[in-house]
Amino acid sequence: MQLPSNTLTPTRESPIDVNPFTVRLNMHGDLDFFLRSGARGRTIERSLSEKTSVKDVIEACGVPHPEVDLILVNGEPVDFDYGIVGGADVEVYPAGKSSTQFKYKHLQVTTIIKFVADGHLGRLVPNLRLLGFDVAYDPRAEDRQLLNTMEHENRALLTRDRRLLMHAVVKTGYYPRSQNADEQTVEVIRRFDLFRSLAPFTRCLRCNAPLQDVSKIEVIERLEPLTKIYYDKFRRCTGCDHIYWPGSHFSKLQKRLQQIRADCASLS
Ligand SMILES: [Zn+2]
Repeated sequence: MQLPSNTLTPTRESPIDVNPFTVRLNMHGDLDFFLRSGARGRTIERSLSEKTSVKDVIEACGVPHPEVDLILVNGEPVDFDYGIVGGADVEVYPAGKSSTQFKYKHLQVTTIIKFVADGHLGRLVPNLRLLGFDVAYDPRAEDRQLLNTMEHENRALLTRDRRLLMHAVVKTGYYPRSQNADEQTVEVIRRFDLFRSLAPFTRCLRCNAPLQDVSKIEVIERLEPLTKIYYDKFRRCTGCDHIYWPGSHFSKLQKRLQQIRADCASLS
């Protein structure tokens, strides 16, 4: 039987054909740190066969999104969820000088002054607390707990676990490049523009709670005989009740503080 001429013949469904295309990326500033050594200092080419968010393309190169402050696709600033559908040139900038030269909207905030640190940054934590910064830290915390603390307390995540920093819920975070605690401290101060917020000796190095001045008479019972004789100024932790005074360790801390300040100033 012959079909009427206006009857449509069914066709097999076929996926939308997308021709493979090439995306070229240039990582600026110190984002090179996250690349394989062979990929540093050169344009990275990636071949894609479907629409892909620029965030996924960048992370596939090894760069966690919280490290990225500005993305230009073919010269235009875009958000992380911008979908790349054809050949494109992508310029990727970290927070700091290299991105602030552009007057575009930036992807990272610098207004966060509270942090949560992962269990491998145990030596950075007291440094930041010494400078007065609020750093949540539990060496036994699992990744899930770190992310919860970050989200619910509006903290920036400090970690050297790249996969964790790439987690979708992370908005603000930083991967300390150095493995040295003093250098990491300077890095964090620079990344979050904290230089004007330094408040040394105002926070407990042990538990992170603020310190308050306390009169000698209130704590005299708890002091060693020589401390009673030589010191008159005391602070008490509002969290764990530990007593602080400018004892022998104080000059060491002050020296470390001076060094950190000098390093920050020389780099700013
Ligand atoms: Zn304390």
